Amino acid sequence: MDKLDFINEELDRLKEAGLLINVRTIEGPQGAWITVDGKKVLNLCSNNYLGFANDPQLRSASQKAIDTYGVGPAAVRTIAGTITLHKELERKLAVFKGVESTISFQSGFCANLAVIPAIVGKEDVVFSDELNHASIIDGCRLSKTRIVRYEHCNPDDLQSKIHAEKDIKRKLIITDGVFSMEGDIAPLPEIVEIAEKYDAITMVDDAHGEGVLGRGGRGIVDHFNLHGKVDIEVGTMSKAFGVVGGYIAGAKRLTDFLTQKGRPFLFSSAVTAADVAACITVVDALNKSDDLVRKLWSNTSFFQDEMKEIGFNLGNTKTPIMPVMIGDAKVAKDFSQKLFEEGIFAQSIGYPTVPKDRARIRVMLSATHSEEDLAWAIELFEKIGKSLRIL
Ligand SMILES: *Cc1c(COP(=O)(O)O)cnc(C)c1O
Repeated sequence: MDKLDFINEELDRLKEAGLLINVRTIEGPQGAWITVDGKKVLNLCSNNYLGFANDPQLRSASQKAIDTYGVGPAAVRTIAGTITLHKELERKLAVFKGVESTISFQSGFCANLAVIPAIVGKEDVVFSDELNHASIIDGCRLSKTRIVRYEHCNPDDLQSKIHAEKDIKRKLIITDGVFSMEGDIAPLPEIVEIAEKYDAITMVDDAHGEGVLGRGGRGIVDHFNLHGKVDIEVGTMSKAFGVVGGYIAGAKRLTDFLTQKGRPFLFSSAVTAADVAACITVVDALNKSDDLVRKLWSNTSFFQDEMKEIGFNLGNTKTPIMPVMIGDAKVAKDFSQKLFEEGIFAQSIGYPTVPKDRARIRVMLSATHSEEDLAWAIELFEKIGKSLRIL
């Protein structure tokens, strides 16, 4: 026996259960069609909702930023890492989101790790939707706060759990805006109402709502017209923005506080000039036109209507994230493998990302897909669905 043998045992166990993640390698830029492990395939699994990941305007903004600022930040934001571009991005994001202020981080994951431990501690309590993203869960754990999980998108359950804790002074309710494995949307108006009743702080992670929901992609708060009613918004620039980075949006005192207390801001280096310049270009582009957002939604209704018509179970999706429910993790893996052989890249998702009997193929739609691409994909889904007796 070797002291690291447990690693092999665990990897073997994952493999047997059909849960071993197969990391594919992409050669070349993101787009509707990509080259994966040497094979050209239709891409149905990127978060590149609006096609910005390889947009010529973003590329040239990044190149220009490198010429001006070089490649590396060489410091954390609080020492020598903040450049004029970070400030410009934060100003423009605040206007775009309709908030007083924003503060940017290295990623959405970092934004959650920054804000939750800064806001709550041991004495407090967090109410967290049971399907919240891993970065929210980790942020809560880091904060050492007591975590009360409520049923997914169930305001009644939230209400009764918060009522039981009504005497705790600081209460924080956290929800994903759009749930990343289901594609459904949090009942934010009801959550805000409950929060007002119990004087709780509200926080929504808008990672998959950014660039997707609301007017011109302004996100979930705009979608429900709840401006000024959500205390903390988390954003990411790694999804629809097509780049990388995260941010917190809200009151100026909140972002001032995170400048002092957000540990990833204080202890991990700044995002590079090239990335920040590309993000600024996205905000400018979304301010100018909502054509891409509209195209994304027309692709979404086309694909989902057809898939439902054929008989696929798409769960409760309301967005371009689409679970094609399979059930068994091994069958889902098989489905994904067959799709890949036929030229479609759509990954299967199993436990622990989703519950054990709810394995699925997760399809992500994008404005870069043409209707012909999607019609072809639908035919293949039907063919494989029949051969594996899903339909
Ligand atoms: C993807 C995602 C994140 C992480 O964002 P990154 O910028 O990729 O780190 C955080 N929260 C939710 C809900 C997400 O879907």
